[in-house]
Amino acid sequence: MHTAPDPDPAETTIERVAVLYALASEAEPLIERLMLAEQPAVDPALRPRHFAGTVGTLHVDVLVNGPDPRCGTDRVGTDAATLAAYMTIRKLAPDLVLNAGTCGGFAARGGTVGSLYVSEGPLLYHDRRIPIERFALQAAGRWPATPAPRLAAAIGARPGVVSTGNSLDATDDELAFFERERVSAKDMEACAIAQVCAQCGVPFVAVKAVTDLVDHPEPVQDAFLRNLRTVCALLGERMEAGVRWLAAHPRRVGEL
Ligand code: SAH
Repeated sequence: MHTAPDPDPAETTIERVAVLYALASEAEPLIERLMLAEQPAVDPALRPRHFAGTVGTLHVDVLVNGPDPRCGTDRVGTDAATLAAYMTIRKLAPDLVLNAGTCGGFAARGGTVGSLYVSEGPLLYHDRRIPIERFALQAAGRWPATPAPRLAAAIGARPGVVSTGNSLDATDDELAFFERERVSAKDMEACAIAQVCAQCGVPFVAVKAVTDLVDHPEPVQDAFLRNLRTVCALLGERMEAGVRWLAAHPRRVGEL
């Protein structure tokens, strides 16, 4: 008996892209630029906000985690990101998932406020300490991202190692980890989304814009709050260019 070979994932044509954001202020510029319309909540219990539209023949979904019901702040970090990614994949069936947002950068790797990075190589977790050898890989994450050099060029982003944790600041151990692993972008969501995408077989790329520098004496929260608006405007402009590149003609995953 003959069985059909599994389709080559690199040959998948990207007809539907989903862009996941943690903060409303990160997502708003792209939603406005692409004139996406708000949709009913994909899952009423979790309530990430859902916006959708088309660019040419490309269907675009934007998911924003939405506020914590208790305090009203945007839901950041790996819990909300994991749920949003799984819900998006199951209910909206994207051919490609992007996670766009802000990040901490590193002057040691040439980062400055406004630098843009596209995930290169596996994504990491920097705050999971499980000192039992068999658990080392689970702790470190190392979930794959889809290589995307042409998408990066369309966005005007450079390749960089992205690492995720659930804190805005960093411990001394984590600072040593960033040097060891040559991390360029420190965020709170990307590796969690990469993990869901890898297990569900959906291509994944992170796009991160630097709001603050981790290896700088100024507390990251001060730089983050001061630069958030301008960096999100820049991210929106570059994400629009990326989405328009994806929509210019049908792109295969292997062409990213
Ligand atoms: N006080 C902020 C909270 C944002 S938390 C507010 O006003 O909403 C930081 C968010 O930006 C996360 O979603 C994270 O992915 C990203 N981020 C930016 N700089 C970061 C850094 N230095 N470390 C970790 N995450 C960072």
